[in-house]
Amino acid sequence: MSGVLDDIKTVLGFYEALGIERIPFEISAPALNPTVKKGGHTAKVKAGALGALKEEMDECTGCKLSSGRKSIVFGEGNPDASLMFIGEGPGKEEDIEARPFVGEAGQLLTSLIAKMGLKREDVYIGNIVKCRPPGNRDPEEEEIAACLPFIKRQIEIISPRVIMTLGRISSQTLISTRIPISRLRGSFYAYEGIPVMPTFHPAYLLRNRKDKHLVWADALKVLEKLGMPLPPLKPGRGPSK
Ligand code: SF4
Repeated sequence: MSGVLDDIKTVLGFYEALGIERIPFEISAPALNPTVKKGGHTAKVKAGALGALKEEMDECTGCKLSSGRKSIVFGEGNPDASLMFIGEGPGKEEDIEARPFVGEAGQLLTSLIAKMGLKREDVYIGNIVKCRPPGNRDPEEEEIAACLPFIKRQIEIISPRVIMTLGRISSQTLISTRIPISRLRGSFYAYEGIPVMPTFHPAYLLRNRKDKHLVWADALKVLEKLGMPLPPLKPGRGPSK
């Protein structure tokens, strides 16, 4: 029983440190969910903090993207992930399913994760903006600015060892630069001390399959940074679909 009380105490302390003042019961319960096994105690605390943040975002009208959305696509995956993927925003399928990267580009990302020797449940997948820009246009600067605190808090909670940013918007936003993605990709940058590897967005790869090997090269650098075994694939081979 004292273990449970210790868990509650730690969760409350974590919420307080994040500036979260109200803890809804339905969110605090999953925080103690014993099914979140990976990372044990830490994963449970992080799951609770993410749940509280999701609750806080519910019905968000922080920017005009709120008017056309079906869902707020919060993000999903292991709350204690070592590796976090960050894209730019939900597309049509993601908006319908309220899950990130589930459309055609998402399948390509899932393929890349599998080739890295991981499962989607091992990593955390999120976006810079949580609501679908109409017609899949790029999110505008004020929309990014309005939503940015949410992904920053997700990163703070998850505290990944490496972040892979997918595409121009997420890479330039997190690294605070205007350098084109074609020049950014392939090298590590830092966000709050966390190594960030920018790479092409999977949607770009669907149109430019010849560049898949570049994303694969970036993924190999990420695995190396994480100290994970490099998969036995032929040199130059990228995610397939
Ligand atoms: S994109 Fe972000 S800030 Fe804008 S309405 Fe959606 S959740 Fe709120």
